[in-house]
Amino acid sequence: MVVIGRDKVQDILDKNVEPAAVCDSGETVVFETRDCYDDCVVSEERPLGDKENPMENPATGPLYVKDAQPGDVLKVEILDIVPRSWGVMRCSPAAGVFCEDFDRRAARIFELKDGKTVFDEKLTLELDTMIGVIGTAPAEAGITTDTPESHGGNMDCRKIVKGSVLYLPVNVPGALLSIGDLHGLMGDGEVMICGLETGGEVTVKVTALKDCRLPTPFLYCRGDVMTIQSAATLDGAGDAAAKAMKEFVKTAAGKDDFEAGMLMSLLSNMVVCQVVDPLKTVRVEFPLKALEAYGYKLP
Ligand code: CA
Ligand code: CA
Repeated sequence: MVVIGRDKVQDILDKNVEPAAVCDSGETVVFETRDCYDDCVVSEERPLGDKENPMENPATGPLYVKDAQPGDVLKVEILDIVPRSWGVMRCSPAAGVFCEDFDRRAARIFELKDGKTVFDEKLTLELDTMIGVIGTAPAEAGITTDTPESHGGNMDCRKIVKGSVLYLPVNVPGALLSIGDLHGLMGDGEVMICGLETGGEVTVKVTALKDCRLPTPFLYCRGDVMTIQSAATLDGAGDAAAKAMKEFVKTAAGKDDFEAGMLMSLLSNMVVCQVVDPLKTVRVEFPLKALEAYGYKLP
Protein backbone atom coordinates (compact mmCIF):
# COMPACT_ATOMS: atom_id res chain seq x y z
CA MET A 1 0.00 0.00 0.00
CA VAL A 2 1.18 3.54 -0.76
CA VAL A 3 1.90 5.55 2.39
CA ILE A 4 2.75 9.26 2.27
CA GLY A 5 4.60 10.32 5.40
CA ARG A 6 4.09 13.51 7.33
CA ASP A 7 7.48 14.74 6.16
CA LYS A 8 5.88 15.29 2.72
CA VAL A 9 3.92 18.48 3.30
CA GLN A 10 3.37 21.78 1.56
CA ASP A 11 1.30 24.89 2.20
CA ILE A 12 0.07 25.31 -1.36
CA LEU A 13 -1.92 23.16 -3.75
CA ASP A 14 -0.05 23.77 -6.97
CA LYS A 15 0.52 21.88 -10.22
CA ASN A 16 4.25 22.62 -9.93
CA VAL A 17 4.73 20.77 -6.63
CA GLU A 18 6.62 17.52 -7.15
CA PRO A 19 4.41 14.48 -6.42
CA ALA A 20 5.18 12.80 -3.09
CA ALA A 21 3.86 9.46 -4.36
CA VAL A 22 2.27 7.83 -7.39
CA CYS A 23 -0.63 5.34 -7.41
CA ASP A 24 -2.99 3.61 -9.80
CA SER A 25 -6.60 4.57 -10.12
CA GLY A 26 -8.53 2.38 -7.67
CA GLU A 27 -5.64 2.07 -5.23
CA THR A 28 -5.75 2.64 -1.48
CA VAL A 29 -3.39 5.24 -0.05
CA VAL A 30 -2.55 6.36 3.49
CA PHE A 31 -1.83 10.03 4.17
CA GLU A 32 -0.04 10.77 7.46
CA THR A 33 -0.92 14.33 8.39
CA ARG A 34 0.39 17.07 10.66
CA ASP A 35 -1.94 19.40 12.51
CA CYS A 36 -2.66 22.90 11.19
CA TYR A 37 0.00 24.39 13.50
CA ASP A 38 2.69 22.21 11.90
CA ASP A 39 2.72 20.02 15.03
CA CYS A 40 4.54 22.79 16.93
CA VAL A 41 1.99 23.85 19.59
CA VAL A 42 2.65 21.09 22.09
CA SER A 43 2.20 22.90 25.40
CA GLU A 44 -0.28 25.36 26.85
CA GLU A 45 2.62 27.42 28.23
CA ARG A 46 3.93 28.14 24.74
CA PRO A 47 0.88 28.92 22.54
CA LEU A 48 3.08 30.36 19.80
CA GLY A 49 4.69 26.96 19.41
CA ASP A 50 8.16 25.51 19.24
CA LYS A 51 9.17 26.20 15.65
CA GLU A 52 10.74 29.34 14.24
CA ASN A 53 8.78 29.30 10.99
CA PRO A 54 5.95 26.81 11.28
CA MET A 55 4.09 25.98 8.10
CA GLU A 56 0.46 27.13 8.16
CA ASN A 57 -2.05 24.37 7.46
CA PRO A 58 0.46 21.84 6.10
CA ALA A 59 -1.14 19.35 3.70
CA THR A 60 0.40 15.96 3.01
CA GLY A 61 1.01 15.04 -0.62
CA PRO A 62 0.55 15.58 -3.42
CA LEU A 63 -0.50 12.19 -4.72
CA TYR A 64 -0.25 11.60 -8.45
CA VAL A 65 -3.05 9.27 -9.61
CA LYS A 66 -2.19 7.52 -12.86
CA ASP A 67 -5.02 7.75 -15.44
CA ALA A 68 -6.41 10.92 -13.87
CA GLN A 69 -6.65 13.48 -16.65
CA PRO A 70 -8.04 17.03 -16.77
CA GLY A 71 -11.82 16.86 -17.08
CA ASP A 72 -12.09 13.67 -15.00
CA VAL A 73 -13.54 13.60 -11.50
CA LEU A 74 -11.42 12.17 -8.69
CA LYS A 75 -13.51 9.96 -6.43
CA VAL A 76 -11.99 9.92 -2.94
CA GLU A 77 -13.52 7.33 -0.63
CA ILE A 78 -12.59 8.09 2.97
CA LEU A 79 -12.03 4.57 4.29
CA ASP A 80 -10.63 5.53 7.66
CA ILE A 81 -9.41 8.45 9.75
CA VAL A 82 -7.35 7.71 12.85
CA PRO A 83 -6.46 10.79 14.87
CA ARG A 84 -3.36 10.80 17.05
CA SER A 85 -3.66 10.76 20.83
CA TRP A 86 -3.95 14.50 21.40
CA GLY A 87 -5.45 17.66 19.92
CA VAL A 88 -4.93 21.38 20.39
CA MET A 89 -7.04 24.52 20.14
CA ARG A 90 -5.86 28.09 19.99
CA CYS A 91 -7.59 31.48 20.00
CA SER A 92 -6.35 34.46 18.04
CA PRO A 93 -6.61 38.25 18.54
CA ALA A 94 -6.45 38.63 14.75
CA ALA A 95 -8.97 36.19 13.30
CA GLY A 96 -12.25 34.46 14.11
CA VAL A 97 -15.67 35.77 15.15
CA PHE A 98 -14.52 36.45 18.75
CA CYS A 99 -11.07 37.90 17.98
CA GLU A 100 -11.83 41.12 19.89
CA ASP A 101 -12.17 39.10 23.09
CA PHE A 102 -8.48 38.16 23.07
CA ASP A 103 -5.34 40.26 23.38
CA ARG A 104 -3.00 37.31 22.85
CA ARG A 105 -2.98 33.75 21.72
CA ALA A 106 -3.81 31.01 24.20
CA ALA A 107 -3.66 27.25 23.66
CA ARG A 108 -5.38 24.26 25.21
CA ILE A 109 -4.21 20.68 24.78
CA PHE A 110 -6.74 17.82 24.84
CA GLU A 111 -6.23 14.10 25.15
CA LEU A 112 -8.04 12.09 22.45
CA LYS A 113 -8.87 8.64 23.77
CA ASP A 114 -11.41 5.94 22.88
CA GLY A 115 -13.23 8.31 20.53
CA LYS A 116 -13.73 10.92 23.23
CA THR A 117 -12.11 13.95 24.77
CA VAL A 118 -12.63 15.42 28.21
CA PHE A 119 -13.41 19.14 27.91
CA ASP A 120 -13.48 19.64 31.66
CA GLU A 121 -14.57 17.76 34.78
CA LYS A 122 -18.24 18.15 33.83
CA LEU A 123 -18.23 17.61 30.10
CA THR A 124 -16.92 14.78 27.93
CA LEU A 125 -17.28 15.12 24.16
CA GLU A 126 -17.64 12.42 21.49
CA LEU A 127 -15.14 12.87 18.66
CA ASP A 128 -16.27 12.97 15.02
CA THR A 129 -12.94 13.30 13.27
CA MET A 130 -13.06 15.19 9.96
CA ILE A 131 -10.71 16.45 7.29
CA GLY A 132 -10.31 20.26 7.08
CA VAL A 133 -8.04 20.49 4.02
CA ILE A 134 -8.46 18.17 1.06
CA GLY A 135 -8.04 19.17 -2.54
CA THR A 136 -6.48 18.73 -5.94
CA ALA A 137 -4.13 21.11 -7.72
CA PRO A 138 -5.85 23.98 -9.55
CA ALA A 139 -5.36 24.39 -13.32
CA GLU A 140 -3.71 27.79 -13.07
CA ALA A 141 -2.02 29.53 -10.13
CA GLY A 142 -1.51 27.56 -6.93
CA ILE A 143 -3.85 28.17 -3.98
CA THR A 144 -2.50 28.24 -0.43
CA THR A 145 -3.84 25.66 2.01
CA ASP A 146 -5.66 28.30 4.08
CA THR A 147 -8.15 28.93 1.27
CA PRO A 148 -11.12 26.87 0.02
CA GLU A 149 -12.03 27.09 -3.65
CA SER A 150 -13.38 25.03 -6.54
CA HIS A 151 -10.40 22.64 -6.17
CA GLY A 152 -11.45 21.84 -2.58
CA GLY A 153 -8.74 23.01 -0.17
CA ASN A 154 -9.52 24.42 3.26
CA MET A 155 -13.27 23.73 3.11
CA ASP A 156 -13.53 22.84 6.81
CA CYS A 157 -16.66 20.80 6.09
CA ARG A 158 -17.42 18.60 9.07
CA LYS A 159 -19.11 16.02 6.87
CA ILE A 160 -15.79 14.90 5.35
CA VAL A 161 -15.47 11.94 7.71
CA LYS A 162 -14.84 8.21 7.66
CA GLY A 163 -17.33 6.66 5.26
CA SER A 164 -17.79 9.82 3.19
CA VAL A 165 -17.07 9.98 -0.52
CA LEU A 166 -15.66 13.23 -1.87
CA TYR A 167 -15.62 14.05 -5.58
CA LEU A 168 -12.98 16.57 -6.63
CA PRO A 169 -12.11 18.08 -10.00
CA VAL A 170 -9.08 16.82 -11.89
CA ASN A 171 -7.49 19.99 -13.26
CA VAL A 172 -4.01 18.68 -14.07
CA PRO A 173 -2.60 15.28 -15.04
CA GLY A 174 -2.44 13.04 -11.95
CA ALA A 175 -4.92 15.24 -10.04
CA LEU A 176 -2.30 15.91 -7.29
CA LEU A 177 -4.38 15.20 -4.19
CA SER A 178 -3.31 16.57 -0.80
CA ILE A 179 -4.83 16.11 2.66
CA GLY A 180 -4.28 17.78 6.04
CA ASP A 181 -5.82 19.78 8.89
CA LEU A 182 -7.71 17.05 10.74
CA HIS A 183 -10.19 18.05 13.44
CA GLY A 184 -11.19 15.60 16.16
CA LEU A 185 -14.38 17.62 16.44
CA MET A 186 -15.71 20.85 14.95
CA GLY A 187 -19.04 22.63 14.91
CA ASP A 188 -20.51 24.10 11.73
CA GLY A 189 -19.06 27.58 11.32
CA GLU A 190 -15.78 26.90 13.15
CA VAL A 191 -16.56 30.23 14.76
CA MET A 192 -13.66 30.84 17.16
CA ILE A 193 -11.09 30.04 14.44
CA CYS A 194 -10.15 26.38 14.84
CA GLY A 195 -11.48 22.90 15.41
CA LEU A 196 -9.98 20.36 17.77
CA GLU A 197 -6.80 20.43 15.70
CA THR A 198 -4.95 17.18 15.35
CA GLY A 199 -2.82 15.02 13.11
CA GLY A 200 -3.31 11.41 12.19
CA GLU A 201 -3.66 8.88 9.42
CA VAL A 202 -6.20 9.11 6.64
CA THR A 203 -6.82 6.07 4.42
CA VAL A 204 -8.48 6.78 1.08
CA LYS A 205 -9.29 4.91 -2.10
CA VAL A 206 -8.82 7.13 -5.14
CA THR A 207 -10.48 6.49 -8.51
CA ALA A 208 -10.38 8.60 -11.66
CA LEU A 209 -13.92 8.77 -13.10
CA LYS A 210 -14.29 9.48 -16.82
CA ASP A 211 -17.30 11.30 -18.30
CA CYS A 212 -18.60 12.07 -14.83
CA ARG A 213 -20.70 15.19 -14.49
CA LEU A 214 -20.85 16.14 -10.84
CA PRO A 215 -20.76 19.73 -9.53
CA THR A 216 -17.43 19.37 -7.69
CA PRO A 217 -16.52 19.63 -4.88
CA PHE A 218 -19.35 17.15 -4.29
CA LEU A 219 -19.77 14.99 -1.21
CA TYR A 220 -21.69 11.95 -0.07
CA CYS A 221 -22.07 11.54 3.69
CA ARG A 222 -24.49 9.52 5.81
CA GLY A 223 -27.32 9.38 3.28
CA ASP A 224 -27.02 12.89 1.82
CA VAL A 225 -25.27 14.29 -1.22
CA MET A 226 -23.82 17.77 -0.86
CA THR A 227 -22.54 20.61 -2.97
CA ILE A 228 -19.82 22.69 -1.29
CA GLN A 229 -19.13 26.22 -2.46
CA SER A 230 -16.84 28.97 -1.18
CA ALA A 231 -17.10 32.72 -1.81
CA ALA A 232 -16.19 36.08 -0.29
CA THR A 233 -19.60 36.20 1.46
CA LEU A 234 -21.92 33.60 2.95
CA ASP A 235 -24.68 34.85 0.63
CA GLY A 236 -22.49 34.19 -2.37
CA ALA A 237 -21.43 30.76 -1.16
CA GLY A 238 -25.00 29.78 -0.23
CA ASP A 239 -26.47 30.84 -3.58
CA ALA A 240 -23.72 29.02 -5.47
CA ALA A 241 -24.15 25.79 -3.47
CA ALA A 242 -27.97 25.85 -3.84
CA LYS A 243 -27.83 26.56 -7.58
CA ALA A 244 -25.25 23.83 -8.13
CA MET A 245 -27.43 21.34 -6.24
CA LYS A 246 -30.57 22.37 -8.11
CA GLU A 247 -28.89 21.79 -11.47
CA PHE A 248 -27.69 18.42 -10.20
CA VAL A 249 -31.21 17.48 -9.00
CA LYS A 250 -32.66 18.48 -12.38
CA THR A 251 -30.32 16.13 -14.21
CA ALA A 252 -30.31 13.29 -11.67
CA ALA A 253 -34.11 13.18 -11.28
CA GLY A 254 -35.05 14.40 -14.75
CA LYS A 255 -36.95 17.43 -13.46
CA ASP A 256 -37.60 20.91 -14.82
CA ASP A 257 -36.71 24.10 -12.95
CA PHE A 258 -40.04 24.32 -11.13
CA GLU A 259 -40.12 20.74 -9.90
CA ALA A 260 -36.42 20.72 -8.99
CA GLY A 261 -36.93 24.03 -7.19
CA MET A 262 -39.82 22.57 -5.19
CA LEU A 263 -37.76 19.53 -4.24
CA MET A 264 -34.94 21.81 -3.15
CA SER A 265 -37.28 23.91 -1.00
CA LEU A 266 -38.77 20.78 0.53
CA LEU A 267 -35.72 18.61 1.11
CA SER A 268 -32.42 20.50 0.90
CA ASN A 269 -30.60 22.00 3.86
CA MET A 270 -28.22 24.94 3.48
CA VAL A 271 -25.52 24.77 6.15
CA VAL A 272 -22.55 26.99 6.96
CA CYS A 273 -19.28 25.03 6.94
CA GLN A 274 -16.97 27.81 8.08
CA VAL A 275 -16.84 31.62 8.37
CA VAL A 276 -13.19 32.06 9.37
CA ASP A 277 -11.12 31.30 6.25
CA PRO A 278 -10.20 33.77 3.44
CA LEU A 279 -13.34 32.61 1.59
CA LYS A 280 -16.45 31.40 3.45
CA THR A 281 -17.91 27.96 2.77
CA VAL A 282 -21.50 26.73 2.61
CA ARG A 283 -22.81 23.28 1.77
CA VAL A 284 -26.26 22.27 0.55
CA GLU A 285 -27.38 18.78 1.54
CA PHE A 286 -29.96 16.74 -0.34
CA PRO A 287 -31.18 13.22 0.51
CA LEU A 288 -29.80 10.65 -1.94
CA LYS A 289 -32.91 8.47 -1.39
CA ALA A 290 -35.10 11.08 -3.10
CA LEU A 291 -32.91 10.86 -6.21
CA GLU A 292 -32.77 7.07 -6.09
CA ALA A 293 -36.58 7.13 -6.31
CA TYR A 294 -36.01 8.37 -9.87
CA GLY A 295 -33.41 5.70 -10.63
CA TYR A 296 -30.32 7.78 -9.93
CA LYS A 297 -27.15 5.97 -8.82
CA LEU A 298 -24.10 7.73 -7.41
CA PRO A 299 -20.95 6.97 -9.44
CA1 CA B 1 -9.07 24.60 8.32
CA1 CA C 1 -7.94 23.56 11.31
